[in-house]
Amino acid sequence: MDSQAGPGSRDYVALEARYGARNYHPVPVVVDRALDCLVWDVEGREYIDMMGAYSAVSHGHLHPRLVAAAQRQLGKVAVTSRAYYGNTLGPFLAKLCSIAGFQRALPMNTGAEAVETAIKCARRWGYRVKGIPDGQAEILVARGNFHGRTNTIIGFSSEPEYRAGFGPFAPGFRHFDFGDMASIEAAATPNTCAVLIEPIQGEAGVIVPPAGFFRELRDWCTRNRVLLIDDEVQAGLGRTGRWFAFEHEGIRPDALILGKALGGGLLPVSAFLADDAVMDVFNPGSHGSTFGGNALAAAVALEGLRVIEEERLVERAAEMGPYLMRRLQDVQAAAGPLIRDVRGRGLWIGVDIDPAHGSARRLVERLAERGVLSKETHETVIRFAPPLTITRELIDRAVDIFRGVVLQGRP
Ligand SMILES: *Cc1c(COP(=O)(O)O)cnc(C)c1O
Repeated sequence: MDSQAGPGSRDYVALEARYGARNYHPVPVVVDRALDCLVWDVEGREYIDMMGAYSAVSHGHLHPRLVAAAQRQLGKVAVTSRAYYGNTLGPFLAKLCSIAGFQRALPMNTGAEAVETAIKCARRWGYRVKGIPDGQAEILVARGNFHGRTNTIIGFSSEPEYRAGFGPFAPGFRHFDFGDMASIEAAATPNTCAVLIEPIQGEAGVIVPPAGFFRELRDWCTRNRVLLIDDEVQAGLGRTGRWFAFEHEGIRPDALILGKALGGGLLPVSAFLADDAVMDVFNPGSHGSTFGGNALAAAVALEGLRVIEEERLVERAAEMGPYLMRRLQDVQAAAGPLIRDVRGRGLWIGVDIDPAHGSARRLVERLAERGVLSKETHETVIRFAPPLTITRELIDRAVDIFRGVVLQGRP
């Protein structure tokens, strides 16, 4: 480093490596600032954000309306705790319920907390409404699931890497194969209170279930008095080209979990939604969160919902998603056996790399060197999930670079 130039990328990477716990393996890009779909590093190099912070930045970075809403609220009050009422929480919850079609919403902060909320609600509903003997409630979860990183949640992960050395784990979970009704029926018992499931398995590699699966699951849950709990922390709020992924199959879950994009890319905001018959198992004292539903979070999240609606971001995802998919499929056709599959829905696409022919991580690093941000998941899948504000021009630029990286060294 030039001593006059001040700290550079290498220095910041070294600092995080020296003082941070080693629980991440970041792509070596040191972000200094970002706006909408573009990101700049500390040396001023520009990147197209094709990752969208795992769907937390669906509105684009620092959306001016969200920044303005945050600034307005920061001139008033940010955090009071739920010991009092506020004039931003009610309007946010009302808007969220009206958009999602549920009677009540319970605000939390992170996705994992909203999943924990769902687990508590499902179990209590199982005992108090369904009549399951105390302490016996079971929740069915999919193999390959990702619902967060708390100890209860990783306890029912099927990924050894997420679990190793962290036990003992909470009992009360049984596994089924994602997309397979027969395996759900085999895992169920009279003590099953809920099925907790992602509509598309993101961390598992953007796995889309067979058409009709969720309709069958919905019917089965209804017939067996089992709650269908849909974790749309990553899929929800327009990502798949509908407000919620469950709409693609014309069903409605009994409860919905939202997070990531709910915070407008500024703050952690999550929520658990259900109707009275389910949500009413919570009474004062049974659940809570100091920061959940804080005034700043509620103001930003409310504005975030309005922006999705008024800027027609769901429609944009429905239009740009298939375009990105077609362009990536063209690359696949040119790439030969390196790319095994291109799959996804809306602006949420996984490019599956055959490890016999290349490394997803290496491709992600080469993409970053050339100004495109993506991220590998499960070692073989490159995830593309740009902000929903992405333009055709930026998609073209990003895919052209991807094409160059993939075809490099080929005749
Ligand atoms: C990211 C994610 C979570 C966890 O959210 P955090 O905010 O990281 O706790 C839960 N479920 C799904 C489907 C997710 O993608």
